[in-house]
Amino acid sequence: MEPFIFNSHPARVIFGRGTIESTASEAERLGCRRLLLISTEFQADVTGALAERLGDRVAGSFPGAQMHTPVDVTEQALERARACDADGLVALGGGSSIGLAKAIAVRTDLPQIVLPTTYAGSEMTPILGETKDGLKTTRSDPRILPETVIYDVDLTLTLPVAMSVTSGFNAMAHAIEALYARDRNPIFSIMAAECVRAMTEALPRLVRHPVNLAARGDALYAAWLGGMCLGSVGMALHHKLCHVLGGTFNLPHAETHTVMLPHALAYNQAAAGKALDGIRAHLGDDPANALYRLAVDLGAPISLKQLGMAEEGIDEAARLAIANPYWNPQPLEQTALRALIANAWAGLPPLTQGEVR
Ligand code: NAD
Repeated sequence: MEPFIFNSHPARVIFGRGTIESTASEAERLGCRRLLLISTEFQADVTGALAERLGDRVAGSFPGAQMHTPVDVTEQALERARACDADGLVALGGGSSIGLAKAIAVRTDLPQIVLPTTYAGSEMTPILGETKDGLKTTRSDPRILPETVIYDVDLTLTLPVAMSVTSGFNAMAHAIEALYARDRNPIFSIMAAECVRAMTEALPRLVRHPVNLAARGDALYAAWLGGMCLGSVGMALHHKLCHVLGGTFNLPHAETHTVMLPHALAYNQAAAGKALDGIRAHLGDDPANALYRLAVDLGAPISLKQLGMAEEGIDEAARLAIANPYWNPQPLEQTALRALIANAWAGLPPLTQGEVR
């Protein structure tokens, strides 16, 4: 028995197919009559169809969400919310649309209903990352957590296969770091192992058949589990590395998670020990290598080079990863971290801890 503290965040979750139809009744439940609809420009048409369903409950829309939640975009959206006297927010999309709703909510305390369409998991967390003048900062606040999350499997059918795979790895990254977190607990460890099981089973099926509803349902279910892990348990080296690579080198979010996950896991595998037993049941004795091979098999990016990072950035990334580090089961050591990043840059199989090629 290990002692633990269990903390979870309250949120109402509706999961299924066609659940988009419950948006109006969920708004009613929250007492919202003047909704501001938020999405990216790319998903403006789906949000437009939702607006038609919601009728005169819609006070306005803002189809301008962008990745990494730039503060100047948030200011424009806030202006729109004020101009239409919004009393609630509805965000449809991935982490970018949800991030913008969170950024408005933390400034106004407006209630949020979110309809996630990727597997990034932001909807289940009280965490917001924002960018200003090229710097990404993260904060946590209870007002950031959406009040209601509506998962509608139908909304994920259009998620391109390549993005489905990388977004699926993003979800598994939350789960895997929850397994070896300093504040891990038995409930989130069960959820984390279940996330990895469901996602590793779903991804090959949806690569073969992108509109396989059962596979899409399993992937979205896994995303919910991964999001809960991210929202409730501390993250470690992997998330720190992705934060550095996304923030300083402007690498794409889900793809960076996909490339880095096998390498960060390999670094921690020995130190994590039995904490990884829940995923060894699905991935075998060497989960880091199993995930690397899965990424290769599914045609996902496997190198930072492919994502556009210059080789000269490796030293800087290693330096930044060790500055203000997150807690990690395996102590951080600059030479080993440099080797890890260099290996990920080249797309080679993960190194076991202490190994240098
Ligand atoms: P995203 O939201 O940027 O989406 C990428 C693109 O795919 C967008 O153009 C989007 O409109 C489109 N798209 C999304 N779903 C689609 C669908 N079903 N069909 C067709 N197109 C679709 O990508 P993401 O990876 O979900 O989110 C990344 C952002 O979320 C980053 O800014 C990241 O920092 C943030 N994030 C935050 C948290 C948190 O807890 N705060 C967690 C995870 C991610």
